[in-house]
Amino acid sequence: MNPTLEIFSQGEEIVTGQTVDTNAAWLSQQAVACGFTVTRHTAVGDKLDDLIILLLDISQRADCCICTGGLGPTSDDLTAEAVALAFNLPLEFDGIAFEQITRFFAHRNRTMPESNRKQAMLPQGAERIDNEWGTAPGFSLQYGRCWFVFLPGVPTEMKHLFQERILAKLSSRFLLKPDQLITIKTLGLGESVIQERIKTIEIPPEVQLGFRAGTDEVQTKLLFPYNYSKTAKTALVTRFAEQLGDHVFAIDGLGELTGDLVFEIDRLMTNRRLTLAVVETVSQGLLAAKCVGSEWLLSTIYEQSTARLGHDPVTEAGAENLMVTAKAIAADLQKSSGANYVLVQLCAGDNDALNNKDKSIVIYNTLLAEDSFHQATHSIAGPIKRKQNQAALMALDLLRRYLQQKAINY
Ligand code: ATP
Repeated sequence: MNPTLEIFSQGEEIVTGQTVDTNAAWLSQQAVACGFTVTRHTAVGDKLDDLIILLLDISQRADCCICTGGLGPTSDDLTAEAVALAFNLPLEFDGIAFEQITRFFAHRNRTMPESNRKQAMLPQGAERIDNEWGTAPGFSLQYGRCWFVFLPGVPTEMKHLFQERILAKLSSRFLLKPDQLITIKTLGLGESVIQERIKTIEIPPEVQLGFRAGTDEVQTKLLFPYNYSKTAKTALVTRFAEQLGDHVFAIDGLGELTGDLVFEIDRLMTNRRLTLAVVETVSQGLLAAKCVGSEWLLSTIYEQSTARLGHDPVTEAGAENLMVTAKAIAADLQKSSGANYVLVQLCAGDNDALNNKDKSIVIYNTLLAEDSFHQATHSIAGPIKRKQNQAALMALDLLRRYLQQKAINY
């Protein structure tokens, strides 16, 4: 059986809903990935008695507890005091913690308020968790059945401390046997189509299959038990990838860290020192926004969508006309921008089709790379925001397919 873990968030603003408890969600994901069974999330306001009762309860029922918040300098930050009273471990002055807090202020040329001295008071026998990302040190201690970890509430500090100070301790203190999650990320296939494509694959009963559909990708998840054979796991994942074909842009959990579509493109463009120039129409700048911060994106031109509308996509001649126009624009842009690759997105359909959620438009994407053109067309339906997002994704996906050398006509 996996060890159990509870998450305990402290603060009136959490209980009253003014702050969304993202710490609990993040910590839960981490704990599950480590191999814990997360049994409970609890949030408690700034009430000493409630905190004491909860700490005592948890000390009897969980193997581990991670608590965030309430370590600040103000009178409503009650965590250390509650621990001291609950477990009869009087607060003691920690000289090293005090020195670290003093240094934190000195480095920022700020005078340390007297109230911050409170943050150097730790329950007797607790192990200090040094925090170079903020003022409040965390601390950990064993009481009853449970190993407690107390971290500051500020999410960035909490995450740093968890990853750099806590993770290694969890694996040395607990016998952890995490399930192995493989996530196959695809673009351009809905959940039902995926289900249809994989229906012939025999999935062993101990492997759990799940789906998660987002706006920018669909994830097919396979959860394998801890001891599942690596060969059998790879064989099953390969079968899935084959059935989903070139719609797969990344597979998470096989070793290399993966990200979203732009992350994958970013890696490939940066490794090969390539640059890109883009003409957007229907995506209206969203393609550029998705790539914000990417140094390989040299320039983007946003053409009012109407500027490229009006060709007749229904006839073959109309479509051909658009393709020829796109190639000419791409060649011109490559000359003027000096970019290695050029991506041109044109659209057929009138403004009514663009704005009407019941009508579809046709997008023509053209990629000019290594002196050759690659083109793909897509019909996109739905509200204008969906059309905008899909247009950006489909254009980027043409580039991704080219970079990954996957089939590009779909
Ligand atoms: P510090 O001493 O750095 O203030 P702290 O432990 O006292 O840390 P809190 O005062 O409880 O932390 O919270 C600081 C800020 O961190 C809050 O204003 C809130 O924005 C954020 N925060 C606290 N708890 C959570 C939580 N559970 N989820 C998301 N954000 C949180």
